[in-house]
Amino acid sequence: MTKTDVVIIGAGPVGLFAVHQLGIKGLKAVVIDNLDRAGGQCIELYPDKPIYDIPAVPECTGEELTKNLLKQIKPFNTEFYYNERVDEVRQDKDNWIIKTNNNNEFTAPNIIIAGGVGSFEPRKLPLKEAEKHEGKSLFYSVKNKEELKNKNISIFGGGDSALDWALELSKFSKINLIHRRKEFRGAPHTLSEIKKLEDEGKIFIKTPCQLESIEGDESIKSISIKFDDGKTEKIKTDTILSFFGLIMKLGPIAEWGLNMNKKTIEVNSENFQTNKKGIFAAGDICFYPGKLKLILSGFHEVALASVECFKRARPNEKYRFEFTTASKSIQERLGKK
Ligand SMILES: Cc1cc2nc3c(=O)[nH]c(=O)nc-3n(C[C@H](O)[C@H](O)[C@H](O)COP(=O)(O)OP(=O)(O)OC[C@H]3O[C@@H](n4cnc5c(N)ncnc54)[C@H](O)[C@@H]3O)c2cc1C
Repeated sequence: MTKTDVVIIGAGPVGLFAVHQLGIKGLKAVVIDNLDRAGGQCIELYPDKPIYDIPAVPECTGEELTKNLLKQIKPFNTEFYYNERVDEVRQDKDNWIIKTNNNNEFTAPNIIIAGGVGSFEPRKLPLKEAEKHEGKSLFYSVKNKEELKNKNISIFGGGDSALDWALELSKFSKINLIHRRKEFRGAPHTLSEIKKLEDEGKIFIKTPCQLESIEGDESIKSISIKFDDGKTEKIKTDTILSFFGLIMKLGPIAEWGLNMNKKTIEVNSENFQTNKKGIFAAGDICFYPGKLKLILSGFHEVALASVECFKRARPNEKYRFEFTTASKSIQERLGKK
């Protein structure tokens, strides 16, 4: 069981800035996110779009904002647990026990829920037989490309993830790229690379068609696809990769006994604590009168929540408000002294 001062659920912009606000007060945090990287909506939904309302940053993309937030918290050497969804939260006297779907357990006096609109999860293949192969020979993300060498891989999807992995894996495996539309949505350069590899017989494009069935019991042997004109084709396949985008699910958060307002968590606007002492919510997932779902609002919310976290984590110490420009201890924590 990992012990820390604060468990942050969600590595979106608000969860990342929470690390900073806690770190400058000398508190340790761990961050858990269901996705395989930091950035939340900024990275998953609009990495290349410019944002114009981050104070003192006239313009930056979702990706740049995420990179800078990660840079800003580097001095704190925070542990990130990616690809893990927080499923359970239970009380143990003055502490909270947090359990993930990978059975990792954490204990802390404070939790900051910065879960945005809920955990991002892959949109799954609608076939029943897909379930039994999931995690063995059917995947919704690539964790280790080395394991995908010398295979017959069928990739589903028409966006950047499907195209980028088709390019990458075609270096050492046979690729079928299957999409329900005729057109792909990808960067022009990627599309021309794909076309080149198709001409060279390294990638086989099948459009417009959909998955009909998966054959094989223990492992996948083949798949059958159906084209829009009604024709079907059986394709030798041992691995399926499916990239149909992400859906957002509030998921387990709704079951932790917190007062909810529709799909958001009620907090007070003094320290962003929920109805449970030591559990805070900030960013898009919190609700209080006048709440604005903006990144800058989330930054303010975690600044205030971190003060209460300090009081709970260090009950024998007095909290002192300090400016970063003037405080030696903050500057030491930031590695500036
Ligand atoms: C297209 C678009 C444009 C936008 N433009 C702007 C703009 O110009 N300016 C602006 O201020 N805002 C903008 N926003 C809104 C902004 O992106 C959000 O306010 C911000 O992302 C909220 O940050 P967050 O950290 O609260 O949540 P999110 O960014 O949603 O991150 C939450 C993270 O928590 C994780 N999570 C949730 N539940 C769990 C769980 N149980 N276990 C593990 N992980 C979990 C999720 O996987 C996710 O990564 C825009 C949003 C969109 C969609």
